[in-house]
Amino acid sequence: MFTTLEGRSVIVTGGSKGIGKGIARVFAREGANVLIAARDETVLQQAVADLSSEGRGRVESVVADVAKVADCHRLAETAVDRFGGIDVLCANAGVFPDKPFVDLTEEDVDAVLGCNVKGTMFSVQACLPALEASGHGRVVVTSSITGPVTGYPGWSHYGASKAAQLGFLRTAAIELAPKKVTINAVMPGNIATEGLDEMGEDYIRATEACIPQHRLGSVEDIGHAALFLASDEAGFITGQTLVVDGGQVLPESPAALEGI
Ligand code: NAP
Repeated sequence: MFTTLEGRSVIVTGGSKGIGKGIARVFAREGANVLIAARDETVLQQAVADLSSEGRGRVESVVADVAKVADCHRLAETAVDRFGGIDVLCANAGVFPDKPFVDLTEEDVDAVLGCNVKGTMFSVQACLPALEASGHGRVVVTSSITGPVTGYPGWSHYGASKAAQLGFLRTAAIELAPKKVTINAVMPGNIATEGLDEMGEDYIRATEACIPQHRLGSVEDIGHAALFLASDEAGFITGQTLVVDGGQVLPESPAALEGI
């Protein structure tokens, strides 16, 4: 049995949609107070309404662009003001525009690295004093299998950003350990989200066929992994990664899935 996260203060960046909203839902159901952050205020407010009607904890929102350092600090200050501190940061906000490597511009790369890498690093940095003050600070980064483990045409800049998050957290884990703050990453496979829906039915069917469990993950599948890494019981785990993909990275070739 895990210790409850009831009453803990949790920030979820990119919490207005998709995986972030699923993470926020799982923590709110546990009775945590959850601050979700994103850029689009209308979508954020809808998410607050949805999550507040489902969970036990308070759910509030703040408009913030994690690619801007000043916004990362405002995000941390808002959580401290409203919930009295920060126990958990889920650094989840991410963008994944696809474009072939040969066509990438400097702006394309800056946009993806700015949100996914810089946004992760500076949101952690901004929350660090409050995470340390909590005495059991937890950071859970949403990386991906794409980049650290697999590749997919059109996502070279995205894959680089997701691998960079892991490079960051392995050193950060060492620097944060004396502050009693852990930092780990979940690495989702293909998760059913609005964003993935836009890839089309053919992509979704083909992907399901490559996954030993023959289904896409749910956003709550990622939320439950994040909840474990945020728990008191996970306190001795830091600098690590948890693949949550229904076994997608395991088959050596399509032949391994024949008859499965
Ligand atoms: P999504 O549905 O498009 O949601 C992305 C969230 O991030 C939204 O709330 C978005 O809101 C927010 N966001 C984007 N840029 C931001 C910025 N600069 N500052 C603050 N918030 C920002 O995407 P998702 O599929 O849930 O992806 C979430 C995370 O999971 C990403 O890190 C992604 O790399 C990772 N992931 C997803 C999958 C998958 O199958 N879906 C697989 C592996 C990893 P605004 O646009 O309003 O800012």
